[in-house]
Amino acid sequence: MARLVRDVADFPTAGIVFKDITPLLADPDGLRAVVAGLADAGRDDDGRPAVDKVVGMEARGFILGAPVALELGVGFVPVRKAGKLPGETHAVAYALEYGDAVLEIHCDAVAAGERVLVIDDVLATGGTARATADLVAACGGTVAGMAFLMELSFLPGRATVGDVAVTALSVV
Ligand code: IMP
Repeated sequence: MARLVRDVADFPTAGIVFKDITPLLADPDGLRAVVAGLADAGRDDDGRPAVDKVVGMEARGFILGAPVALELGVGFVPVRKAGKLPGETHAVAYALEYGDAVLEIHCDAVAAGERVLVIDDVLATGGTARATADLVAACGGTVAGMAFLMELSFLPGRATVGDVAVTALSVV
């Protein structure tokens, strides 16, 4: 799997080594294995689905999250950047390396008491994942777990998301 993720130096800004997952997305065997691995984070010990929804963040969380939801037989919920969702939304602002960003979820996308698996490609500082967990909570749902293709262990992602089960298929 690691050979299908390409390091791109100085993207999007100088000094950042960007993990480019497009070679993985273009490889059906690799993509199938990743989707299966991520979906396992949403199963109980007997292999049965243990979540009611999969939530994925714009944009690569959509690509991975939707097939994970299908694999688990549950619905998919998009968390989007501000102003993209047409219905009534909850919004959470969070800090980026430079400046702030806002993520939104439809208020009715997760029902009270539903258990959610959060899916994204990369866990870096954890700000995006933490904001997403806050959005799920605003709907009344519970984050049962978070699963990522890749965790950047030199950044404090796990500490930022706090007391939630985190799965990473690859740790760099
Ligand atoms: P965080 O909020 O700092 O944890 O950053 C995670 C978000 O930024 C995720 O939505 C990722 O898609 C994106 N991201 C951060 N670093 C990378 C990278 O190296 N490759 C791809 N996406 C990244």
